[in-house]
Parts: sequence; C-alpha cells; structure tokens
Amino acid sequence: MRTDATRYSNFTGWIDRPDDVRPALDGDLTCDIAVVGGGMGGMATALRLAERGQEVVLLEAEFCGYGSASRNGGQIAGAPGGDLRMLGLFSGSKLSVMAKLAEHAGHYVEDLMKTHDIDCDYVANGLVWGAISPLMMLRVRTQAAILRSVGGQGTVGNREQLGLPTGFVGGMRETIGGMLNPGKLARGVRRAVLDSPVELYERTPVSDVRRTGGIVELTTPNGTVRANKVVLATSAYGGEWDITPKNLSVPLYVIEIETEPIAPERLAELEWTSRSGIITQHQVMTHYRLTERNTIVCGVRRPERGPGYPLPDRVPSPSLVKDMAADLADRFPTLADVSIAQAWGGWIGISADWLSVAGQVGNNVYYSMACNGHGLCQVPYVGKMLADYIVDDEMPEDLAGIWSDAPKYPASMDLVMNPFVLRLVWSLDRMNDFFSGSKALARRQLRRRGRAKR
Ligand SMILES: Cc1cc2nc3c(=O)[nH]c(=O)nc-3n(C[C@H](O)[C@H](O)[C@H](O)COP(=O)(O)OP(=O)(O)OC[C@H]3O[C@@H](n4cnc5c(N)ncnc54)[C@H](O)[C@@H]3O)c2cc1C
Repeated sequence: MRTDATRYSNFTGWIDRPDDVRPALDGDLTCDIAVVGGGMGGMATALRLAERGQEVVLLEAEFCGYGSASRNGGQIAGAPGGDLRMLGLFSGSKLSVMAKLAEHAGHYVEDLMKTHDIDCDYVANGLVWGAISPLMMLRVRTQAAILRSVGGQGTVGNREQLGLPTGFVGGMRETIGGMLNPGKLARGVRRAVLDSPVELYERTPVSDVRRTGGIVELTTPNGTVRANKVVLATSAYGGEWDITPKNLSVPLYVIEIETEPIAPERLAELEWTSRSGIITQHQVMTHYRLTERNTIVCGVRRPERGPGYPLPDRVPSPSLVKDMAADLADRFPTLADVSIAQAWGGWIGISADWLSVAGQVGNNVYYSMACNGHGLCQVPYVGKMLADYIVDDEMPEDLAGIWSDAPKYPASMDLVMNPFVLRLVWSLDRMNDFFSGSKALARRQLRRRGRAKR
C-alpha cells in the first residue's frame, strides 16, 4: 500500500480539534476536589463527582479528549486483553477480577453514551480475537477456554461463522462491546462536562503536585489550585510528577493508520460481513476495523517506549507506517493498490500484567495510571468507581481488584520494556507470521474464491 501521500497528525484522524477550547486557569483557586487530566478517565471521574453533588474542578493541559481518548482504535472490549496464558501463570487469581471488570466496563461505556445521548457511530458487534493461521487459531481456542474458566464469555467460530474477512481463519467473538468513533465519543463526553456543574479549565498543564498540611497544591502556569482531594487521571503522562508512585506502568507510543475511502464493492469482496473489529493473537496484537467512511483503520503492531518525561508531542515514524501498510496489503491482497491517507499515534500506560491500576497516596491523592490497550472503556469505569469511593468511602469490589499502592512493576520490568526488547518481540511475531504461512493463506483463500466464482 502506498504511503507517499500519507498525512501525519499529532492529534487524531477521527475528529478535528474543538473550536471552543475553554480558557486557562488565571489566578489561584480553592476547591473541594480537583481532577487532573481530561481524557475519558478524568472526564468520567469529574462527571460522576458532580452527579454525586460534589464541587469539582477539572484541569486539562490542552483540551478534553486531547490524549489517547480521541486517538485510539475505537474498539470497546468486553473481555480482558493480554496473553491470558501468561497471566494465568503469574497472577491466576486476578483473571476472574479482570474478566468481571472488563464486562462491567463495556456496559458502563454503553450506558455513558445513552445517558448523555452521544452519537459516536457505535455498533455493538463484538470485538473478535482473530486468527490469521491455523496455529494462531489454536492459541485463540486456548485463550477462549481460559476466559470461560474464569467466567468470561465468547463465541469461537471459523471465518464464515464469525463473518470475518478473507485473510483470517477464525476467532472468538466477545459478547459485549463493539466499535465506535472514539473522537466523537470523547467530543460527546466533553460536551457533557461543559453542560455539567464541573468547573473546567483547559490549556492548564499541572507542573507539580504537593501534599501540604492536609491539602493538595497543584501548580499551573498562571495559578495554584488548593484542593482537599485530588484525582490524577493523566494515565501515561502521570510519571512526570514526583508524587506518582514509580514502577506502576511504563509509557508506550502506539500508532494507527487509515486507508483512503475504498469503493463499497471492493470492501464487499473481503466478505467482512460482521464488520466486527478484529485483534490478532500476536504477542503484540495488530487490530483491523472498518469505519463509517468506508476506510480500514489498523493499529498497534509495534509499540515504542517513551524516552522519559515529559512525553514528546510527536507523530508516527514513517518506517512504522510503511511496515503497517505492508501488513495491511498482506492481509488484504486485493487492496494492495489502496493508499494510506493518514497516520497518528498516542501514549498509553502499560502495566506488567495488563491489569488496570488505581491507588492512593495518603488520604487525599487518588490515581488511575494504566488501562493498557483496553482502556477506552476501562478508564472511564475506573474513574466512575474512584469517584464513588471518594464520596462513599467504601471501595467498590471491581476497584479493590485493581487497587495498587505499592509498585506492582518490579524495577527490572522497566528495563525489560526497552526499545530493544520491544523490537525483538516484533521480530518474533513476524517470524511467526512467516512460518505459519499466514500471507500465503490470505492469497490461497482469494484464489479459491476466484475459482468458486468461475
Ligand atoms: C493509538 C491507540 C489505540 C488504542 N486503541 C484502543 C482500543 O481500540 N480500545 C481500547 O479499549 N483502548 C485503546 N487504546 C487505549 C485507550 O485509548 C487508553 O487506555 C485510554 O484512552 C486512556 O484514557 P485516559 O483518560 O487515562 O488517558 P488520556 O486520554 O491520554 O488522557 C490524559 C489527559 O491528561 C492530559 N494531561 C497530561 N499531562 C497533564 C498535565 N500535566 N496537566 C493536566 N493535564 C495533563 C492530557 O492532555 C490528556 O488529555 C488505544 C490507545 C492508543 C494511543
């Protein structure tokens, strides 16, 4: 696929920037609760606190929805991500916690859309764990069995049964969740914040967080906020403050590419009848999805480690975009002449076990640090639970399952997640593709279909 005319964005390809960005904080402020970071997590926390009658101030460095909230693949997952076999081995007791949390999170985001009447092109057609080779199908079946053993749900089937495109052997469809336009969702939740009693300051980066004399002081360029309680909801960006517990997660940069619009009859040739989003079962997944504008969005595949804090405002590297475009052409050979219209990326916080992380410093600073590649619905659900915990002083069961005050990332994991290892994992995934014959399989399926048509 051609990438010579690809547009690189340092925001997202899903929506434009808002033209009504709220003014920055100008002067000092005292409040009961302050939330820092206006992603899906921070916005959901602030909305829930306001709904529960709390006085809440929301501080966002750019504008609400600026981070991964608007940049992600838009796949609402109703089951946990990551390698369930490894997770079962190292933290088996957490698997049922993750399965339950993922289901509740999926339903929570569906409710959020309904409550605030947000039109974000949501289709509840279930995310599919797709296999591109018979070998990968074995892995899908093992993962599905583990999921079922801890109370999760999913339907295993072959390509035809699940309505998957050519290039796939089969997979497992999650029963909760589906696909949406994440930019429209973030814009809709931002609108709900603007219409609520939440006091919102955009263009207001917090450069320091300090606990002094029973209150928390937040430093911003033009004023200090003094709050009784603070929720840090900046996710991958959280490591820039001294107060953030170390080793809870590491920041990774992941990208998305989007094709130019494809003629409906060419898309029909793919036989992607379910239109479900698909995540592969590589060590690092690649995901593929169709959009309302007849394009294909594909992402993740090779994450890059953040160089340190503050995280740079960047665009995807052209070599990565080319690599992903070549993968799209391998998967969908009939579309090899299609161009990649745009590419963007964003920062996510990754924890060692793919479990979301929330916790508390002292009695007045709360944080939500890492919701990994499945954060689109888990982040707002964790935010809602944090708000309830602050108001009721009673820990919701799902929140207790991911609560982590102590570092859960051993310091050595930080070294393991280095650029060399990430590259090595990518190479192993590609070797796996080569030896499992997935590229040849996609072409064979096409030839077989051509013969059947004749
Ligand atoms: C390319 C990509 C694809 C993805 N695909 C999926 C997917 O398909 N499905 C899924 O479930 N998840 C996906 N994810 C993950 C998911 O998007 C994230 O886990 C989730 O959006 C994190 O939400 P958040 O609110 O915690 O963080 P963010 O949305 O990143 O919000 C953090 C906010 O904090 C602000 N901020 C940062 N520093 C400061 C500061 N000092 N002061 C004030 N504000 C600050 C930022 O500007 C930002 O708005 C993807 C992520 C990316 C990047």
